[in-house]
Amino acid sequence: TRTATANIGVVGLAVMGSNLARNLASREGNTVAVYNRTYARTEELLAEHPEAGFVASETIDDFVASLAKPRTAIIMVQAGAGTDAVIDQLVERFEPGDIIVDGGNANFHDTIAREQRIAPTGIHFVGAGISGGEEGALHGPSIMPGGSAESYETLGPILASIAAVAEGEPCVTHVGTDGAGHFVKMIHNGIEYADMQLIAEAYDLLRTVGGLQPAAIADVFAGWNEGPLESYLIEITAEVLRQVDPATGRPFVDIVLDQAGSKGTGVWTVQNALDLGVPVGGIGEAVFARAVSSKPAQRAAVQRIVNSRPTVQEAGTSFADDVAKALYASKVVAYAQGFDAIIAGAEKYGWDIHKDRIAKIWRGGCIIRAQFLNRIAEAYDENPDIATLLEAPYFAQAVADGEAAWRRVVATAALSGVPVPGFSSALSYYDSLAVKRLPAALVQGQRDFFGAHTYKRVDKPGTFHTLWSGDR
Ligand code: NAP
Repeated sequence: TRTATANIGVVGLAVMGSNLARNLASREGNTVAVYNRTYARTEELLAEHPEAGFVASETIDDFVASLAKPRTAIIMVQAGAGTDAVIDQLVERFEPGDIIVDGGNANFHDTIAREQRIAPTGIHFVGAGISGGEEGALHGPSIMPGGSAESYETLGPILASIAAVAEGEPCVTHVGTDGAGHFVKMIHNGIEYADMQLIAEAYDLLRTVGGLQPAAIADVFAGWNEGPLESYLIEITAEVLRQVDPATGRPFVDIVLDQAGSKGTGVWTVQNALDLGVPVGGIGEAVFARAVSSKPAQRAAVQRIVNSRPTVQEAGTSFADDVAKALYASKVVAYAQGFDAIIAGAEKYGWDIHKDRIAKIWRGGCIIRAQFLNRIAEAYDENPDIATLLEAPYFAQAVADGEAAWRRVVATAALSGVPVPGFSSALSYYDSLAVKRLPAALVQGQRDFFGAHTYKRVDKPGTFHTLWSGDR
């Protein structure tokens, strides 16, 4: 039998798990137990990283015995059946008060169900969203743990020791109970989709309308990265655009097949937002844009029947500045929609989510990290009850400043035949909120006509139905 010396364990030593285990081991005060179903993988990690001082086990029994109480283990295995298998093994061996953390990309509905199933045993189950990919896992991810507040007392300091640091603060907070962490991680990914799509549209406009080559667009983006658009995604976009394909000498972006893939978290965000009744058009358009790109048969069919494409509009001297403003305003809309989904999720599932803290833990370690998130944190810190980020004074001003440019860019895109589903849906969303009257009144009339769905009036309370005389 073993002495229980490790304060934290990691199960699953593929790329994410090994990097997280190495990160944990590199922090003062941590002794890290490791276990992987296939022992060869464990041996590989031990051989490559003797400096980590891992306490390795060949069996799950030894692994559990190597953990000091309360035992705390982070699972980093394949989401779904793999995660359930490992959870079952740990639940069998753990005791009340011990903590099981699922750090994989679980669906938050699964996390809620798992927590409910495990709760009667007295073992804490914590679903933790971990963002930042392999690099983040190794050097500091943004961590979004759910689960009980009690478990966070033990877990919080451990996670804080390995999280990214933004402006002196670790990028981790107790998001809320049960599935809150995985829910917020899902929304993070949805926002990431929207942000990437908007940046891609900006590139397309600068190239097609602005007439710039990828390397020149890289310079534009590098410049943007010095201002309010500063973000990891803008930074890496400049690098991708600067890349030259060694085999052909052509810009890298031109040799990549233009069909974007996805692993599904964007789809989850939209599905759940639909269920919650939250309009997340920016995220939805980003998911759809990838789907459209991946329909070669439909694209080819329309390209065959199209005889001529619109003449590309003249780009004025300030076109790049206009695009920057349109990008910023659209980005504000996408984030506003993402936070609306968080608010609705928190209400439906009973989570006490602090929006300012979410914005803060996204400032480092994750894909959407940016200065911009400080503005969101400030907005919610100032007034947590604002109806939308768009009414926060800072964003209201920023959008007002960029509004004319935003409209010019969307109009130019439409006239030039450049698809901008992100920019244009963001602008339509903004206009939908901004106009005094929406044609929803007419939709209500139509609904009452064919389905007697009733309507409300502007001038008196109550529910009304009109006896329509038209053909039925
Ligand atoms: P992965 O390829 O998703 O999974 C491989 C690991 O799962 C191996 O350790 C494997 O053990 C183990 N495993 C699979 N089925 C198992 C079972 N039935 N019982 C026990 N172990 C089982 O690994 P990964 O790429 O490192 O990802 C781990 C988790 O992190 C996943 O949930 C993934 O979605 C998530 N992830 C997150 C990010 C991010 O940015 N946040 C990035 C990538 C991945 P064997 O060695 O024995 O096969």
